[in-house]
Amino acid sequence: MKRQPLEPVLEEIERQHLRRRRATVQDYPHKGSHAQVMVDGCRLVDFSSNDYLGLAAHPALAEAMAACARHYGAGSGASHLISGHGHEHAALEEELAAFTGRQRALLFSTGYMANLGVVTALSGRGESVLLDRLSHASLIDAGLLSGARFRRYPHCDAAAARRLLAGSTPQTAVLATDGVFSMDGDVAPLTELAEAARAHGAWLVVDDAHGIGVLGANGRGALEGAGLGCEEVPALVGTLGKAFGSFGAFVAATAELIELLIQRARSYIYTTALPQPVAAATRAALRIAREETWRRERVLALTARFRAAAQRAGVPLADSVTPIQPIPLGSAQAALAAQHALREAGFWVIAIRSPTVPAGAERLRITLTAGHEESQVDALVGALAEALSRIRASSPIP
Ligand SMILES: *Cc1c(COP(=O)(O)O)cnc(C)c1O
Repeated sequence: MKRQPLEPVLEEIERQHLRRRRATVQDYPHKGSHAQVMVDGCRLVDFSSNDYLGLAAHPALAEAMAACARHYGAGSGASHLISGHGHEHAALEEELAAFTGRQRALLFSTGYMANLGVVTALSGRGESVLLDRLSHASLIDAGLLSGARFRRYPHCDAAAARRLLAGSTPQTAVLATDGVFSMDGDVAPLTELAEAARAHGAWLVVDDAHGIGVLGANGRGALEGAGLGCEEVPALVGTLGKAFGSFGAFVAATAELIELLIQRARSYIYTTALPQPVAAATRAALRIAREETWRRERVLALTARFRAAAQRAGVPLADSVTPIQPIPLGSAQAALAAQHALREAGFWVIAIRSPTVPAGAERLRITLTAGHEESQVDALVGALAEALSRIRASSPIP
């Protein structure tokens, strides 16, 4: 884009109902919980965060963070390979390796950077990268950045992935997918993808940002749910800013693969290490997530309650059993109208529009957390049903 006035560009975005606006959360009315937020002087129940286990505002995390900051200071001062790698990082990596049942784990500052790091380290020019069509933007950017030939298969279509792998020249180095899809809430066909990757010698990378801490008998995520280990899925990416209520991300893998990432992953090497107090807070979160299994059971029970109530009320649902519950609305305009109506009714829910989802697949993205009350979930369904009937009356939802 050549330098030019930007006003018309922004106006065009607005005209298409695609202008993004940030809200400032002024406060959280209940100490120790992020389930409600104060925005523009209004108290709203937040059904949009990824704080699945209700840990983001837990006092134990804040306390661990504060104690660590008093001890080690706020900043790490350098990258991990210089002098920024501290005791809390090392301890958290060991605990994440144990939690995921893998030899080693490597901390990254964000999930975005973890995906860039692992995909680019395992692929390059003269090879190809294969992704699910609805993969997270960071996996897509990783594929582009890798310099490899980059292709996508239809959403959750493992047979199509297999055909592309079989007919692939150049050879496919990396097959990557979300474990739980961030905007759809459905789970990837991991067993079939693992089989296809094995048959064709590709590295399978699973980004389980939304599964880790929530799914599986012990909260170890979508891979635990599918009974897959390091042999079938050599690279597991997990994030720490969602179910674990903190910040950062990790790759869990064999000791060998982690060693390669330390040598090759530019988004690991050329950036300042995560502050140690953040790692300390994550260690507290991991301990609580392991001990308080009721959090996982509660968010899944509230999810089931939401779906049952929505079905009774005639609210359209997607095929998701995870705490991510999209409500398909079919246009940016309808999705925004629903967002505004819910806000009037006291709920903070966000319309997801293009390019985050394909045009025509606009939706509300509702997320449940262990911090919600049953009565809040029931009231949300009531407000949704009411909002949808008003929107349908004014302009039919396809
Ligand atoms: C949120 C998310 C990421 C990015 O993680 P951050 O730590 O927020 O950068 C990566 N992949 C998926 C599927 C996500 O939902």
